[in-house]
Amino acid sequence: MDVSRRGFLKLSGISIAALATGLGFDPKVAEAKGYSLRIEGSKKIPSICHFCSGGCGMLLHVKDGKLIHLEGDPDNPVNEGTLCPKAASLSSVAYAPHRPTKPKYRTPGAKDWVDISWDEALDRIAKKMKEVRDTTWKATEQVTDSKTGQTQNLTVNRTEGMVFLGSAEIDNEECYILKKLSQVVGSPYHEHQARI
Ligand code: SF4
Repeated sequence: MDVSRRGFLKLSGISIAALATGLGFDPKVAEAKGYSLRIEGSKKIPSICHFCSGGCGMLLHVKDGKLIHLEGDPDNPVNEGTLCPKAASLSSVAYAPHRPTKPKYRTPGAKDWVDISWDEALDRIAKKMKEVRDTTWKATEQVTDSKTGQTQNLTVNRTEGMVFLGSAEIDNEECYILKKLSQVVGSPYHEHQARI
């Protein structure tokens, strides 16, 4: 008998299903059992996917401080238990072996990046921000009225050497802090990654 590859797979599926039914094996029960074994002993934490502005609800199952399973939240009215592939692969973002977990610094002219401590990174950023702010600070700006042609000096108090860039990857609280920081520093340039 000639059996194509597709036909073979079909026949195998039918045979396995027939065997399972014959032995009183219910795949649905096995699936439910597998699910409860997978999340056994974990803590269920409701969360929101941060990948896009859809705001889909997720249930994170955490055991010993590690995410062991995630799924769509059926009670969330936005996604009603579904998740797109981006969110479904979230654990690989958290545990990807190549994910940088330390700040890196490359000396001017050097070829390689080296790990530095968070304290050193924050000190460097703060020093650089102060330097840029001081050298690019603008207290006033001369503005000409297009109707009257009259020119006057207006107080603007801003730094023109710094730009803040938002991201679809940051949540509401992070957006709030970022916006506050840009205003405290005096930068009027605040863009979002999606417009670039
Ligand atoms: S699950 Fe997909 S659609 Fe929903 S918020 Fe995340 S990335 Fe957006």
